[in-house]
Formats: sequence, C-alpha cells, structure tokens
Amino acid sequence: MNQAKPNILLIYTGGTIGMMKDAASGALRAFDFDKLLERIPELKLLDCTIDTTSFEKPIDSSNMNPRYWMKIAEIIDTHYEAMDGFVVLHGSDTMSYSASALSFMLENLAKPVIFTGSQLPIGDLRTDAKENLITSIQLASLQEMGKPMISEVGLYFEYKLYRGNRTAKINAEHFEAFSSPNYPELAESGVHLKVNHDLLLRPQPNTEFKVHKQVDDNIMLIKLFPGINKRTIECMLNRPLLKGAILETYGAGNCTTEKWFIDELKRAINKGVHLINVTQCPGGSVLMGQYQTSMQLMDIGVISGKDITSEAAICKLMFLLGMNTSGQEFKKQFETSLRGEMS
Ligand code: ASP
Repeated sequence: MNQAKPNILLIYTGGTIGMMKDAASGALRAFDFDKLLERIPELKLLDCTIDTTSFEKPIDSSNMNPRYWMKIAEIIDTHYEAMDGFVVLHGSDTMSYSASALSFMLENLAKPVIFTGSQLPIGDLRTDAKENLITSIQLASLQEMGKPMISEVGLYFEYKLYRGNRTAKINAEHFEAFSSPNYPELAESGVHLKVNHDLLLRPQPNTEFKVHKQVDDNIMLIKLFPGINKRTIECMLNRPLLKGAILETYGAGNCTTEKWFIDELKRAINKGVHLINVTQCPGGSVLMGQYQTSMQLMDIGVISGKDITSEAAICKLMFLLGMNTSGQEFKKQFETSLRGEMS
C-alpha cells in the first residue's frame, strides 16, 4: 500500500477567493497567488503535499471562455501522472460551466478534480474561502487502498461536494451559492467528511486518460418566453455558421405549437443544426411526448436533454461539436450520459 502523502495541485484561475479591494475604485480585483497562500497558514497542517500553479493573469470568472478551459485541461494533463488530485480555484459566477466543460474534456479521469471558490475574499474576516479551500484539498486527498477515492470533476461549496456537471449557481449572496437539483451530494462536510460512495463515478478499468482540447462555440442558447416572435427565432436560427442550439423550454420540455415556430425549427434541423430540448425549470426532466405541446418537437427530431442543466448542456454541445460528432451519432451521444451529467 502506498504510504506516501498524496500530492495535490492547486490551480488558481481567479475569482473572489483571491481578490482584494482596489484602493482607488473600491471594486474587487484579483491579486497575485503567492499572497493567497500567505493568508492560509493552515494549509501546512494538511496531510498532503501541495503544489501550486496559477493563471498568469487571474481572471474574474465572468471572463471565462473555452480558451481558459483548454488552459486548465492542459495544466491537468501536464501534471496528471505526478499528482494524486487537483483543486481548481475559480470564481463562482461561471464555475458550473467550467466544471461541466472540464468533465467532458477529461475522459477516463481516475483522479479528483475539485472546483471551489468563495463568496467573500480570503482576507475578509467572515470569509467562506478557508473552509471551502481546506475541505476541497482534503476531499482531493482522500484515498482508498492507495488510490484516489474520488475520480471525477466535483464542485465543493459550503459544506457540500457536488458532481460538477450537475450544478448551477443559484444565489449571488448566500454562502450556499450552488445547487444540484437532479443529483444528490457526493459528499457532505460536518464533524466528519461523509462520502456517498454509491453515488461516485467509478473509473473504467483498462482505459487511458485522454484530454480533449477541441470545443466548438458555434452554438446558441434560446430561452423561450410567452411573446417570443417569429422574427426573433428566425434571426437566431439563421445565424451564419450555427451548428447547434439549446432550446430552454417550459416544464417537461413544452413549447408553443404555433406553426411558424415548428416550421423554423424544422428548417434549422434540415440544415444540419442540432436542437436540444432542455427545461428552463431548475429541477426535473424533459419528457417529450408527455404533453401535446412537446409531441411535435419529438417528431421533427429535436434531441432530448433529459434532466441535464443548461450549463452542462451548453458544454456538452460544444464538446460533441468539437469532436466532429454528427448526424444520428450526435443525437445518440447527447442522449447518453457520458460523465454522469444526466440520469
Ligand atoms: N465575480 C466573481 C467571479 O466569478 C464572483 C466569485 O468569485 O464568486 O469571478
């Protein structure tokens, strides 16, 4: 059995956790990573070895984009063999998107990648940053028979570890900023760290870790609302180079049955645009055919997003397009759970 302490790589991308108030404007901006570590001497007490790396210019996660996802994926790829686990410090605003994107980009992951951040900067007296960071490192360090206990992309915030691609940011003020409406917590931190082993993804034996760095951003997110008109839909679906769109529909995947609407969708599908039905409800699943108002979507070939979040659906769409998946294979892949993102 391996008795050595686990090696954890801390990847700092930016976010409130490492921000300070700008003296002149009073606005929060990122400061350099070394100072972040100076502020948490407790890290030295953890039963693991911690290495750190940082984006050259840490960002507010509102500036996150696929090029940064590739950067995170590359860092993990470079250090994959040497490290037992990874903790990604990231702004909370787009953390669910990044955790989802990385879950697809990292295939056959056999080690933990835990995203975390905070609502208050680490230097703030009432900060939530220390608990989030320390517990994330502990979770990434958990081992069973010398192997990492968690082997997927998680998101840890306010005492709960979630599957990253099941989360959404639900509150801009509360410390409990995330939820995972369609999948239970993977672990909970109380007096003890309670891991729900049965809910974890298991690494597939005899598979090789693979990093996919191509994603295609020629996509669109269309949220339906009563009053959305033909001109708007026409304009969105005829955008040059469009390859796929997430339709955020009502309830269990329902939409207007007006002829112009269905005709526009049909035209887009005939041009080769992939349309995916995702509910705009925070929880629950699309079930096309349950109501008459989703029957036609099914008939014209709209893909079911089942109970995927919009955040994960966007990332899965970009990922599958990046893999050049097309036609029926695209539909099949999208409707299959690739990384535990749908039930
Ligand atoms: N705007 C910040 C960011 O997402 C908020 C946070 O870190 O929680 O980078």
